[in-house]
Amino acid sequence: MRDVKRFPTTTGLSWLEMSSFKEHLFKGHEKIGKEYDYVIVGGGYGGYGCASRLAELQPEARIAVFEAIKIGNGDSGKNAGFIIDVPHNFGDQGNSTFEDNEMYYKLNTFIIGRMRKTIEDSGIKVDWDPCGKYLCCSETKSFKLIETESEELDQMKVHYEIYEGEELAKRIGTRYYKKALYTPGTLLVNPADVLRGLYTTLPENVDVFEECPVMRIEEGTRARVTLLNGKEITAKTVIVTGGPFIEEFGIVKRVFCPVLSYGAFTRRLNDKEMKYFEGVKPWGCTAGHPAGTTVRFTTDNRLYVRNGFSYATHLTTSHQRIRRAVDFCRNAVDDDLAAIGLMDPVEGLDQRRLSCAVLSHKRVYLARFQIDGKSIQRLYAGKGLRNISHF
Ligand SMILES: Cc1cc2nc3c(=O)[nH]c(=O)nc-3n(C[C@H](O)[C@H](O)[C@H](O)COP(=O)(O)OP(=O)(O)OC[C@H]3O[C@@H](n4cnc5c(N)ncnc54)[C@H](O)[C@@H]3O)c2cc1C
Repeated sequence: MRDVKRFPTTTGLSWLEMSSFKEHLFKGHEKIGKEYDYVIVGGGYGGYGCASRLAELQPEARIAVFEAIKIGNGDSGKNAGFIIDVPHNFGDQGNSTFEDNEMYYKLNTFIIGRMRKTIEDSGIKVDWDPCGKYLCCSETKSFKLIETESEELDQMKVHYEIYEGEELAKRIGTRYYKKALYTPGTLLVNPADVLRGLYTTLPENVDVFEECPVMRIEEGTRARVTLLNGKEITAKTVIVTGGPFIEEFGIVKRVFCPVLSYGAFTRRLNDKEMKYFEGVKPWGCTAGHPAGTTVRFTTDNRLYVRNGFSYATHLTTSHQRIRRAVDFCRNAVDDDLAAIGLMDPVEGLDQRRLSCAVLSHKRVYLARFQIDGKSIQRLYAGKGLRNISHF
């Protein structure tokens, strides 16, 4: 493997600003050991999943997680915060079959159950709301998608509800959307809060280091891991969960088509603005149109809008690009949500903008999962994973 040349950076603000775990201190870099059984590169959901499962299966193993930036500031903490049970827009899943969808549903609900148990058992308080999700259509031509989705859900025997017109407007506080399919099993979360919170629940045998980029991994009887701060450690197995940055290690080539997507929040709506949301519970919707806007009305009374994509060939973005994205999101509040009737959308949008920079890495999986004896197996990220037989 080669030296990493591009490291994750933090651009824009994020959900982390609103997390009660923002100030949580993980281990200081002086505590970095010289030898570990497992080194996990990347502190996103992938890294968390590997660390928690390994710690459970091998409580005697020494495990270290290295995250280049702050945990919660990477893609896992910057997405739109939908922890979905049913796959997004069945019809858009390319070649996915009924069996694939059913498998994803089982996998998603299994993971939600596991996360819920960890959160309940550890007693941490996270911004996590089991309020379901709407698939919303503002144009009649998109209604077909709702039909296709409901047919799939009928087949899978998954409960859903359809809302339209005034009934829908009453639930979400806007008449902008004409029809929606509601699936109650999705959770809406502050993703940085949940992720960071989960990392605090990892047991003693897992060392978590943030703002500690990994620069090089050399294979051998014991792998040698060099950190950007100059420290060297060895490990029996190294697991790389670096999202699109995996390519930087030379493990895989040209499997990503990274795109950035951008989001912004309003400040908390004031009493006057909240009049429009009287009796409305927090909600989130994805759009019927595949390139449509994702919107949330959050538990702390903000509107969140995510839209717009740009290719991220350099795996990063600029402050100028974020500036443009903020204007784009502002327009979405202006145009798309005008029906909400907030007095002045520009006033409504906080000057403190938050960027949601999520890099896409479709079809790349970290591991192999077994459900009902059938395995979902896509791409292995490096030799190390193959050696972990427990997955
Ligand atoms: C537009 C869009 C919207 C999405 N919305 C949602 C959603 O609502 N809900 C949802 O659950 N998912 C959503 N996702 C998907 C979700 O964000 C990803 O599936 C998830 O972040 C993947 O987790 P990961 O751990 O594999 O990778 P990442 O979250 O990318 O984590 C990898 C980590 O590795 C770190 N890293 C990289 N290089 C190094 C290095 N050299 N040294 C140390 N650390 C390093 C990075 O900083 C990063 O934190 C969305 C994706 C897209 C594209």
